[in-house]
Amino acid sequence: MNCIFLCLMNCAMYIETVKNSWVGVDGEFLFFSLTGTIKVNSEGAYELAELIRSVKQLVVLTGAGISTESGIPDFRSPGGVWENYRPVTIQEFMADGGARRRYWAYKKDTFPSMSAAEPNAGHLAVGELERRGKLQALITQNIDGLHQEAGNDPSLILELHGTERCVLCLTCGEKYPRELIQERLEAGVEVPLCDGCDGWLKPATISFGQSLSEDVLQQALNEANNCEAMLVIGSSLQVHPAAQLPEIAKRSGAWLGILNRDITPLDYLADWTSRDSAGSILEAAVNMPDEVSQ
Ligand code: NAD
Repeated sequence: MNCIFLCLMNCAMYIETVKNSWVGVDGEFLFFSLTGTIKVNSEGAYELAELIRSVKQLVVLTGAGISTESGIPDFRSPGGVWENYRPVTIQEFMADGGARRRYWAYKKDTFPSMSAAEPNAGHLAVGELERRGKLQALITQNIDGLHQEAGNDPSLILELHGTERCVLCLTCGEKYPRELIQERLEAGVEVPLCDGCDGWLKPATISFGQSLSEDVLQQALNEANNCEAMLVIGSSLQVHPAAQLPEIAKRSGAWLGILNRDITPLDYLADWTSRDSAGSILEAAVNMPDEVSQ
């Protein structure tokens, strides 16, 4: 409380809106919002807010990094999925009973935390972009469904790697809710089978070695080819073809921004980069009043 009072007394600039307040302090800004107090690098948040203000719409491409603040680990960061688990390729899944058991054991262990996760400030900021008419399309590599929970219209979301929310029979295509299959796993089933045809079940996600949906990929390529700006959030840009989309956008003349904690192979192409945590900078930039960002 004292800190907030001192900041208010010494502020270089103070602008209050109904929901949010900004206090400038030595090149950084404290951002007071309904979700708490956040310290953000003012330059990065300013620049992103200015970009959002100046373009008609932007395409957002998200990766696992936007969901780490919801408690879902990404793959490549310390503590990420790959420290404890080697992914099962689709070829291994189809050929080997041991691989199918390993695959489902991992899914059984990780589903409770994924299904309990809630959208964080980053997801909510992307939802707010849509409400303001600023979102052309939301391309995601994530399978967690948190963009839908944050209020983004499913018709604007392209899930490049499918979704964990649904399970499919690989033989007849029958669909099952993921929760139902979790109940069976917890009751002791090691590899769930289709009720109708006994085919192997697998979440409707794209495994390594598996082709993406041509339709979804084509739509994503079209969005990348025809956008004024693309903002990448929380992706290492090492998984293809998702990692090609920013290059395509840039080649077609779009502004490119990359908001990722670690360096990515495409940073050299970007017009704007930030190593800030996705949630705080997005919440700050999206909610920054025009008078501040101008
Ligand atoms: P990745 O693990 O390769 O990279 C994630 C990146 O996010 C890292 O470079 C890291 O520096 C950054 N990051 C982590 N937390 C961040 C934060 N709070 N703010 C900003 N940056 C942050 O993930 P990827 O590039 O999406 O590729 C991995 C693949 O794994 C994806 O295709 C996805 O399908 C799958 N995956 C999905 C989920 C999910 O649905 N939440 C989780 C793990 C993996």
